[in-house]
Amino acid sequence: MKLISSLFLLLLLLSTVPTYAMEQPAPKNIILLIGDGMGIAQITAGKIVNKHLNLEEFKHLGLLMTHSGNALVTDSAASGTAMATGYKTDNKMIAVSHEGTPLKSIVEYAQEANKAIGLVVTSSITHATPAVFAAHVDNRKSQTLIAEQLSKSGIDVLLGGGWGYFVPNTVKGSFRNDHKNLLDKLAEQTTVIQTEKEFNELDDVDSVVGLFARKALPKADKRKPGLPELTSKAIQILSKNQKGFFLMVEGSQIDWAGHDNNSNDIIKEVIDFDNAIGVALAFAKNNIETLVLVTADHETGGYAIHDGSIIKQQVTDGQFTHSHHTAEMVPVFAYGPGSSDFTGIGDNTKIGKILIAYLKK
Ligand code: MG
Ligand code: ZN
Repeated sequence: MKLISSLFLLLLLLSTVPTYAMEQPAPKNIILLIGDGMGIAQITAGKIVNKHLNLEEFKHLGLLMTHSGNALVTDSAASGTAMATGYKTDNKMIAVSHEGTPLKSIVEYAQEANKAIGLVVTSSITHATPAVFAAHVDNRKSQTLIAEQLSKSGIDVLLGGGWGYFVPNTVKGSFRNDHKNLLDKLAEQTTVIQTEKEFNELDDVDSVVGLFARKALPKADKRKPGLPELTSKAIQILSKNQKGFFLMVEGSQIDWAGHDNNSNDIIKEVIDFDNAIGVALAFAKNNIETLVLVTADHETGGYAIHDGSIIKQQVTDGQFTHSHHTAEMVPVFAYGPGSSDFTGIGDNTKIGKILIAYLKK
């Protein structure tokens, strides 16, 4: 009788042991969407105006601390590095340690696992957030150097702005001070496009570099192609790889609207970013080995909603405490295999650490 009851107790204990997703098969595809500067208030404003957000489909939510190695308030380089590599570094540093040593990124692990890689942004592709996934430099301002590393990275899909960093100084609009033509170099290995027309007419390619502006892409309501279309195209191309893919999509300009203390622009950029999230979710629903993560690198502006209307779907009084970033925790939303690994309160390095653990499997 004693044996039976202790067996029963053991069974009861075993049945309550949580099944951590780390013990489950790793996701085949990973889509990481980063809303630069997107805190809780930014998301709330987007929901008030749009009524519903695709973000509401996510059932696993967490919060992340974002401080960098040398400051309570991070920049996008340090927080991006934390997410891309799993390690804290100092502000301005792109996937290198505080001493300047390169830190291996998710992209490099994913390439070793023969996965296809894509980076899709609305800033220049050489900007801090995409750069942490493809370059190792000690200063985010070295965008011409980042462009060189990007062109040698072997990344399959690069979509965004910033052709000015890739063309020689003999070309009008170049940001380079040398004669290197990185677009010509890239064109030897992949399809290089620069216009909306070329994007719409893109054949059945396995890789593409699309840089549609000299620097950043236009604001959300002027962007063509828009972030949802770019995301859709990237997924279409990357998902051809039998081994799966890693895709990073950045809503780059939510941050800039925060720096500008422009509530209306924040809302437009958040809704646009949410539409890109919708594209990723639709793919994940049909391809269940796909993990979709949505997070932010930090909050920008100390944004708060002081007045508006649910009925009229408007924010009439958005206030700001700052024109720079803040140290507030940011949310992380997870959907698909492994999503329960991202719940609770954690640190932004958790993103890199967990994703790299999946890729090492
Ligand atoms: Mg950014
Ligand atoms: Zn910023």
